[in-house]
Amino acid sequence: MVMMDDPFDLLRPTTVTVRVSAKVNLALGVGSRAPDGFHPLATIFEAISIYDEVTLTRRDDSRITLTVSGEDADQVPTDETNLAWQAVDLIRNECAAEWGDRRHGVDIHVDKSIPVAGGMAGGSADAAGALVAAAALCRLPDSPEELQPLAARLGSDVPFCLTGGVALGRGRGDRLAPVICRGRHRWVFATSTRGLSTPAVYRRFDELGGSRAGEIVPNDLISALTRGDIDAVADSLSNDLQAAAIDLRPELEEVLTVGRQAGALTGLVSGSGPTCAFLVPDAASAKIVSAALSRLSQVDRTRIARGPAAGAQLLPGPVGS
Ligand code: ATP
Repeated sequence: MVMMDDPFDLLRPTTVTVRVSAKVNLALGVGSRAPDGFHPLATIFEAISIYDEVTLTRRDDSRITLTVSGEDADQVPTDETNLAWQAVDLIRNECAAEWGDRRHGVDIHVDKSIPVAGGMAGGSADAAGALVAAAALCRLPDSPEELQPLAARLGSDVPFCLTGGVALGRGRGDRLAPVICRGRHRWVFATSTRGLSTPAVYRRFDELGGSRAGEIVPNDLISALTRGDIDAVADSLSNDLQAAAIDLRPELEEVLTVGRQAGALTGLVSGSGPTCAFLVPDAASAKIVSAALSRLSQVDRTRIARGPAAGAQLLPGPVGS
């Protein structure tokens, strides 16, 4: 007879996959750098339909391993600096507190479609996916509400990646309030051949004198989203980090101009960049804008996506998993 560590072991899945979406900031108001080094934010996040998948498989020993496949896989760390690894470790500690000091090992696999260092919260998305997957493996509560405090410990964007949809983020972006959004948005994203480091963009933001408005809640944008008025949404998009990102990568200016001239309602740098995001009116414009952007040498890839998308979601597993 096989002795189980706890009576519920047989009921636990051995493999769990979670799909998690990228984000774009529809507005990013950045205040002055605080003494703790962080900048207070008022941001509107929208989850969009570019997804990573995080799969966790229980091991017989206590090791953690991590492999990565998909786009830009070679740029993603496979050690404990990976945010998905840190999320699993956090849940294992919670598990140990719950079930005694037993540390189950896990194989983590991340299949990436979200651009790396592209200002679309790729690492944070993987952390959110790994949190949900690890909680499910450990039979801990895996709802976004239950996992929010752990998510905030992993990074400022992780709580939003859990919930998805459209939300106002304050503080470091981790104090969330849902925003009602009528209708869906079509986007074209243009990624760059080289990523941009988020801390480097904030440093340049400070050097350029910060922002004049600061972390102001974008009420015009929230109202436009609630009414479902796409033209007013386009008129209200803003990003306080855009000037700093363009200062570091002047070629982004041309990307924004070409996308707008090809028929986008508007274009802006996504988060800390260098990905540029274009809101487009319909599927035909999406194709035209995408084709125009693809011809630019500084554009690595273009992606057409929809928003708002869901947050981290458990995918149905194969029978017996
Ligand atoms: P944000 O939009 O949250 O500022 P980003 O999307 O610009 O972040 P990420 O894709 O999260 O950037 O990558 C930033 C760095 O984080 C990468 O250069 C990489 O070294 C590291 N990293 C750690 N974990 C991951 C992960 N799971 N996926 C991608 N990058 C990761």
